Amino acid sequence: MENLWNEKVAKSLKGNLLKLRVYSSRLLGQESDLVLHGGGNTSVKISKKNLFNEEEDILYVKGSGWDLGTIEAEGFAPVKLEILKKMAKLKNLSDTDMVKYQRAAMTNPSAPTPSIEAILHAIIPFTFVDHTHADAVVTISNTPDGKKRIKELYGNKVLIIPYVMPGFMLAKTIYDLTNNLDWTKIEGMILLKHGVFTFDDNPKLAYNKMIKIVTKAENYLKKEGMKPLKTKIKPGKVDTLQIASIRKTVSELRGISVLAKLNNTQKNLAYSILPNMKKFATRGPITPDHSIRTKCIPAILSTNPNKDIIAFGKDYEAYFNKFNDGSLTCLDKAPRWAVWQGNGTLSFGENVKNVQIIEDISNHTIKAVYQGEQLGGWKPLGQKDLFDMEYWTLEQAKLKKANNALAMQAKIAIVTGAASGIGKACVEKLVSEGAVVVALDINPSIKTCFKQKEVLGIKCDVTKVKDLNNAIQQTVLTFGGLDYLISNAGIFPKSMRLDSMEQAVWDKSLKINLSSHQELLHLCLPYLKLGIDPAVIFIASKNVPAPGPGAAAYSVAKAGLTQLARVAALELGKHGIRVNVVHPNAVYDTAIWTKEVLNTRAKSYGLSVDEYKTNNVLKTEVNSKDVAQLAVTMLGNTFSKITGAQIAIDGGNERII
Ligand code: ZN
Repeated sequence: MENLWNEKVAKSLKGNLLKLRVYSSRLLGQESDLVLHGGGNTSVKISKKNLFNEEEDILYVKGSGWDLGTIEAEGFAPVKLEILKKMAKLKNLSDTDMVKYQRAAMTNPSAPTPSIEAILHAIIPFTFVDHTHADAVVTISNTPDGKKRIKELYGNKVLIIPYVMPGFMLAKTIYDLTNNLDWTKIEGMILLKHGVFTFDDNPKLAYNKMIKIVTKAENYLKKEGMKPLKTKIKPGKVDTLQIASIRKTVSELRGISVLAKLNNTQKNLAYSILPNMKKFATRGPITPDHSIRTKCIPAILSTNPNKDIIAFGKDYEAYFNKFNDGSLTCLDKAPRWAVWQGNGTLSFGENVKNVQIIEDISNHTIKAVYQGEQLGGWKPLGQKDLFDMEYWTLEQAKLKKANNALAMQAKIAIVTGAASGIGKACVEKLVSEGAVVVALDINPSIKTCFKQKEVLGIKCDVTKVKDLNNAIQQTVLTFGGLDYLISNAGIFPKSMRLDSMEQAVWDKSLKINLSSHQELLHLCLPYLKLGIDPAVIFIASKNVPAPGPGAAAYSVAKAGLTQLARVAALELGKHGIRVNVVHPNAVYDTAIWTKEVLNTRAKSYGLSVDEYKTNNVLKTEVNSKDVAQLAVTMLGNTFSKITGAQIAIDGGNERII
């Protein structure tokens, strides 16, 4: 474990204790082998004058919801130290009351809720306290003779604490164990199957002690000859239809739409084909607080993944019934990740961020489990303790708070012609509703057009089957399936009467404005059939119900597209796939409406450009955002019982009305 302390940076903080606390917390937080996604916590004790000019000791402890890697000064909750110390002396205190009284003891009521380990930080008699869930240390303790190994490794330099659930009982246990302890004799505490505490009045020394303890454990694992996860087998062709099917089954079991992401890197693939993997992979997580995000164990998927997922749900129900005292409500039964034999691992989450968190935790888990297995056998915390953590009231409350789902959360969409105009507006609208989008365009700028993690931009020529196939494969590999298609890509050929029609212009329009849409729909269908409330929107044109002279190549292609949509609606209804059509008119903030086209079209109607732009019943201008709003609404729940419909968005057109 590399020591990242930079004396120059530390000096620039001029002895400001809170700033130093932020600095060294971030050093710990940026190392994923120490803490992962909100895990671990730190504190600093500072003496301050209160409102009445009295000196008061305050514990600044990591606030709930903050991540050590990115924490700021305001991420630390200021709590009166004396009150926390008094709380440690209580015989009993429920965790709900503990949180309530800790909040009441804060000197700033708008600060975040103090960490559940605040009392523990308070009773450690040093200015700086660092706490991590270091993989290497916890891995060693998660073996049958883990305690013995830890003892041999650290001697009397660390205090070894048996596993106790975090919260009041852990603080109380340590308070009792350390009553007569000479704290200056130890460098840290190791909480078996949980993590490490180090402390010092000097932030650098507290940090150094952490790095030293963790490095020792890492070297120990090396010395014990831990083999890395490796295989000579190369990942085979991934069956994306099977991924889409797995994602649907997991979504159904969970009761909400989820994303799925395959990791078939060498390490994950190697793990998935280890002999006896099913046995040790389902014993439990590295540290119990991971169970809140990943459940205690992954699903193990074999040749019939859907059956395995259903079986996971049944086993989960049995586990819940076994430990439920009658007062609890069962959480959803869906796995958060899976080891897919011969393929790697899959992570499931309700948004991109959560999928990443779950993938990170699962990557650390497979490494730790594999090492533990080599070190005498992976032996994490028992089921009952894990259950208590998973169903802990405080954690359940946290999860409830986070549940403000958007209407299209974890819905997966493809939008073509997405680098500008209507397509681009559709991507932005979909993301704002919670969906993830694969944005396709022939313009290479599509790759950098969208900055959000929810959008994957791919350069794609919709007239090339290879490009379309690649885009669909990438969609499933990145997000796990396909629910929505907005088939929008199009060109507006130059105005041309039939008597002077150039065949190439005609052919090109039909190829892009009609045939490419048919091809794309054809290729998407197997995935849409496995989608969740799947729906398709074709962006056609007002030219279909109300054609204009000189636009035959365009109008005929769009009329064909409309007919394609009508047949698709008829054929796909039995699969639950809705197909509807939007007919925009006079949307001028799109790529096809160059100044030249605009002038020509206005002229052909004998109007000025301004008159032409608002030449409708409502005398209003229609823009890309208006069309995107309609298209995305038609994909969603409001249109759940409508298929084969055509809606013109044109400000009202006398010829159509
Ligand atoms: Zn902890």
